[in-house]
Amino acid sequence: MVPRIDRNRCEGKAECLDVCPYDVFEVRKIDDADFERLSFFGRLRSRAHGKLTAYTPGAADCHACGLCVVACPEKAIELVAIAPHVDEASYETSALSSARRA
Ligand code: SF4
Repeated sequence: MVPRIDRNRCEGKAECLDVCPYDVFEVRKIDDADFERLSFFGRLRSRAHGKLTAYTPGAADCHACGLCVVACPEKAIELVAIAPHVDEASYETSALSSARRA
């Protein structure tokens, strides 16, 4: 399991970063490509919060404790099953493909 961030909801408040015992998260300015994928309201929200969002560079260390899911005030995190060798960018692509097939 790894945390998946809903960037349309994330406001970069960093509670996930504070509670995670395994340093899975970083909070930084959203990548341009990720910003372009946001919804209209997601872009408004992102701009209102300095375009900060959470990324998961340490996702391979996630122990699925769920603390980040509970801590996020925007309910922007869910835990999803993922093959450990798949990086986040690939995951987001494959997750979109799966969603389209569903
Ligand atoms: S589920 Fe636990 S270990 Fe995994 S990212 Fe969230 S807080 Fe960190």
